Amino acid sequence: MTDYYGRTVVRYDGRPKGNKRPSSHKHMASSTHPNAPCAACKFLRRKCIQGCVFSPYFPPEDPTKFANVHKIFGASNVSKLLNEIAPHQREDAVNSLAYEAEARLKDPVMAVLVQFLYFKGKFFDFKRN
Ligand SMILES: [Zn+2]
Repeated sequence: MTDYYGRTVVRYDGRPKGNKRPSSHKHMASSTHPNAPCAACKFLRRKCIQGCVFSPYFPPEDPTKFANVHKIFGASNVSKLLNEIAPHQREDAVNSLAYEAEARLKDPVMAVLVQFLYFKGKFFDFKRN
């Protein structure tokens, strides 16, 4: 196909030229990739599904946030908590968990105490306020 001046017009259909295969099978996904799993799913080595309860609060750019929270509270407890509270409360809850977890990891004595309070069921009292 040529234009008025006889030049070849290349129609771009949005597909890459040649035989390039999609690189989705590559092991390490870039953290800036929009389909990258959230930090929680990456940490737990599971598939990050659409609507993943962790993904809005644990972006792949911040893997230590989830690692800390998981170390102190456990992923299943965090997901249970997120499912129990209203969506507008989740961000605050996650941020306070991350804050608590970081503080506990810096202070092992407090870590023991927070585990104790957690298992006494007192830690999540804030959600009833
Ligand atoms: Zn996820």
